[in-house]
Amino acid sequence: MKKNLIAKLLIVSMMFCGVFALTSCGGGGDDEAALVVVTEATFPPFDTVDDDGNITGFDMDLINAIAEDQGLTVEFKDIGFDSLIPALEADEADIIAAGMNSDDPGRQAKVDFGTPYFESQLVLVVADGNNSINGIDDLTSDMKVAGQIATTGAEEANALADAGTIGEAIILDKVSDAMLQLQNGDIDAIILDKPVTESYIAKQPGTAKIVGEPIGEAEHYAFAVQKGNEELLEKLNTGLQNMIDNGTYDDLIAKWF
Ligand code: GLN
Repeated sequence: MKKNLIAKLLIVSMMFCGVFALTSCGGGGDDEAALVVVTEATFPPFDTVDDDGNITGFDMDLINAIAEDQGLTVEFKDIGFDSLIPALEADEADIIAAGMNSDDPGRQAKVDFGTPYFESQLVLVVADGNNSINGIDDLTSDMKVAGQIATTGAEEANALADAGTIGEAIILDKVSDAMLQLQNGDIDAIILDKPVTESYIAKQPGTAKIVGEPIGEAEHYAFAVQKGNEELLEKLNTGLQNMIDNGTYDDLIAKWF
C-alpha cells in the first residue's frame, strides 16, 4: 500500500517534471530563440557594465524597449568593437547596438543600418592638466594620439599619423584603456565621441578635458542588422519610432545623459 503510493507519487512527479522541462526549455512551444545583440561595453553612457557585471546603458534600454514593443526576445554580448560587424557577417549575432556611426560607407557595405537614433561628434581629449594642446592645430610630430580599434576616432588618429601631423596613432581595444593611458601620461590625446568623453569626465572629474572644435562630420548612431535582414530592420525601425512617439526615448535620454 505504502509502496504503491510512493510509486504513484514518483510517476506523477516524473510526469510533472517532464512537462515542466518541455515548457521551460521552450521545446514544445513556439518561443523563438533570443536575438543576440552585440556591443562593446566601454562606451558609456551608451554601452557599459554595471557594478554587478551586467551589460547596461542607453543602447540596451532602448533595444529592450523596442524588443518589448515588437515582441522580440534579446540577449546582450560584450565583444571587441572590431568584432561587431564580423559577428553579424558570421551569423553569430543579429543586432549591433554599440553607438556605431551609420554614415560610414565601409560599414554600410557589410551591414544594414536602421534609422539613426543619436547624433554625435568626435572631439580631441587631453589630460586635465595639459595646457599646451588647445586643439588639433597644437598636435606635433612627436605626439601619440589614441583611438579605439575600428572606430571613426581610430580612423582620424591614423589619418593624422599618415599625414605626419602626429608621431604615432595608438590603437587600443577599449575606451577605458585610452582614458587610463592618458592619465598615466603614456599618450598625449585621444580622439573620442563627445558624449562618451563627457561621461568619463563626469565619473572621474579632473582627469581629462575636451579641447578645440569637434573633429570631422557629425556622426549618426544606428543599430545594425545582417545585410538583407529587412524583417528585423523594419521591426527595429517601427519600434524606435514608437518609442519616440510614446516618450520612452526622451525618458531614456533624461535617464542616461
Ligand atoms: N562613433 C564611433 C564609431 O562608430 C565609436 C563607437 C564606439 O566606440 N562604440 O565608430
